Amino acid sequence: MKSAAMRGTGLGAISYENDRSVEAPECEIVSYSCSQGHQSVIPFSVEAEEIPLTWICRCGREAGAVTQVPKMASVTISEPRVQRTHWDMLLERRTIADLQELLNERLAVMRNQLAEAQRLSA
Ligand SMILES: [Zn+2]
Repeated sequence: MKSAAMRGTGLGAISYENDRSVEAPECEIVSYSCSQGHQSVIPFSVEAEEIPLTWICRCGREAGAVTQVPKMASVTISEPRVQRTHWDMLLERRTIADLQELLNERLAVMRNQLAEAQRLSA
């Protein structure tokens, strides 16, 4: 028992906390930065199984992790990014011309299938 720390002083005047009497919960401090440059510093318990790579900033944007800790999900960390839509991601891989071509191909396939179905049912 650490009874010495409780002896006779006014409440709140002096802190008896020190490294020996208080075990600080161990945690990983991770900084996140959003596209607006806001920093969020989030302490995670060491018991957390995995530390997220992104955090929702106070402004509502997605913030990317700036620091890396061993338990972090093993994905390459890029610079802070804004939330992308599926359309944005599609446009990173394909040009509009590519998409037009793919659409035409698919339409041709579907027209052939439709024609085939009509031929069979005739
Ligand atoms: Zn922000």
